[in-house]
Amino acid sequence: MSLNQIYKSIELACQTAGRIPGAVTLLAVSKNQPLEAILPILEAGHRLFGENRVQEAARKWPILRTQYSDSRLHLIGSLQTNKVRQALQLFDVIETIDRPSLILALVKEWDNPNRRTSKILIQVNTGHEPQKGGVFIDDLPTLIDLCRAHGLPLMGLMCIPPAHEDPSPHFQQLAVLAKMHQLPDLSMGMSDDYLVAIAKGATWVRIGSALFSKSSRLK
Ligand SMILES: *Cc1c(COP(=O)(O)O)cnc(C)c1O
Repeated sequence: MSLNQIYKSIELACQTAGRIPGAVTLLAVSKNQPLEAILPILEAGHRLFGENRVQEAARKWPILRTQYSDSRLHLIGSLQTNKVRQALQLFDVIETIDRPSLILALVKEWDNPNRRTSKILIQVNTGHEPQKGGVFIDDLPTLIDLCRAHGLPLMGLMCIPPAHEDPSPHFQQLAVLAKMHQLPDLSMGMSDDYLVAIAKGATWVRIGSALFSKSSRLK
């Protein structure tokens, strides 16, 4: 799909769900994409992107930002504590906070004058999958309290539902949790299920393959 087709489809899904236009923002997931594939999206005026690896983002985005300094980047993949300093300098939003040690590492680096990050989200492992990142639902309140106790700008929740399940109840559950904890941002929905996610209250949808499918891929 073209960028404009995706914008239109998001807008239509908002209308259908009775949500205000502009309630949902597209995060173009540019992981595994070379600069030549990302540039046309920037040229078309889109500025919000998601990457899942710190090293890959560090290779690509300082170059892209020399020309498109107003582009914004979300980290949507797991973060190791030893990459926290670098992540804070690269990403506007970190969506994958999922354990106390990571929060403490963020707190330690937060006053770095080169910090770009202004919002964080907690990733919730709604499917209770052991191999996947994200905090289990039972441990979520503790993590939220820890972020708030340290004054971190926790703004929302993110999830990736189990691959072969109906995503709808997972999105529903994430929306309920966000509301319960008074968190406004909900990052949920990918190429195959973003319409469902919008119906369930997503504020950010993360779309990769539907947008980039024709482009050549990095290994
Ligand atoms: C790759 C990825 C996406 C995009 O997935 P598509 O199915 O390609 O749209 C969204 N979120 C996360 C966390 C990802 O890793």
